[in-house]
Amino acid sequence: NDKQSGARQFPRYQPAMNANSRGLMLLRSDLYQALDKDQLSVVYQPKISLRTGLIVGAESLLRWKHDSLGMISPETFIPLAETSGLIEPIGEWVLATASAQRKCWQREGVPPFLLSVNLSGRQLHQAMLADKIKHILDVSGIEPTDLELEITETFLIQDIDNSVKLLNELKALGIKLSIDDFGTGYSSLNYLNRLPIDTLKIDRSFVKELPQSRERLDLVRNVIQLSHDLGMSVVAEGVETQAQLDTLNTLNCDEIQGYFYSPPVSAGQFRALLENQPLIGKEYLQH
Ligand code: C2E
Ligand code: MG
Ligand code: MG
Ligand code: MG
Repeated sequence: NDKQSGARQFPRYQPAMNANSRGLMLLRSDLYQALDKDQLSVVYQPKISLRTGLIVGAESLLRWKHDSLGMISPETFIPLAETSGLIEPIGEWVLATASAQRKCWQREGVPPFLLSVNLSGRQLHQAMLADKIKHILDVSGIEPTDLELEITETFLIQDIDNSVKLLNELKALGIKLSIDDFGTGYSSLNYLNRLPIDTLKIDRSFVKELPQSRERLDLVRNVIQLSHDLGMSVVAEGVETQAQLDTLNTLNCDEIQGYFYSPPVSAGQFRALLENQPLIGKEYLQH
């Protein structure tokens, strides 16, 4: 009858889908208050030079501790922030917080390092982004050359002409730029060479298969070689094992980041890492 055929139009999994999207909607509305409620924080993950074994940089990573749900992954809430107009204020807060921390350590005589902050593709579309970044740098008092912005490959290749224009504006501030998650966007390096990029970060999905996968090994070797030819340095993300470190060392990779040396840690813990260098024993360094 009519009732039955009507009921059949609704797939069985719909309640679950509703629960999920409803959950995300609630989460989004909570995110509006996260800044005011002091639920956001920044953690730091070291980048280590394979030449010196020293910490040469740190990636700032955002954390959200929800009052009833606990820690929410950035993989969940960054997309929510991006689709609700919150990524701009949140992104500015991360930059201001990390820059102030960097300046504080500088004053205290803690060893210097390049501070990296992730920039969402959405933020690139923000009006007067370069002016806003310059203002945040001026307020914090750090040098532009001490800051690097990480921008994901997939975003940069969506509209390469526009990316060239926007990145040139940022470069003019004197800051450094890196391509994040390289390899996930299927673009060639020669294509990306139009962008004013200082550093390329090889996505951890590639590092994961080193050294077992012959194919990945050749690919990473070529990426590193070509990056160097184009004047870029290379950071490998997601280094978790000694074997991966050894392989990347042999392939002439410049820096590594990953759980093998340290997960992202609180500011206090990061400071302790900076003061207890080198993290890599001499036996593993490039000669
Ligand atoms: P990402 O920029 O590629 O950051 C690296 C991610 O890899 C971080 O995840 C880090 O914790 C994780 N990671 C580091 N070493 C290892 C390892 O050895 N093994 C594995 N499996 N993972 C490792 P996290 O902190 O969860 O952040 C995820 C993503 O969220 C980031 O990827 C970035 O795209 C985004 N994100 C985080 N903080 C911010 C932020 O302040 N602004 C923006 N726009 N995006 C952010
Ligand atoms: Mg990043
Ligand atoms: Mg990455
Ligand atoms: Mg990523």
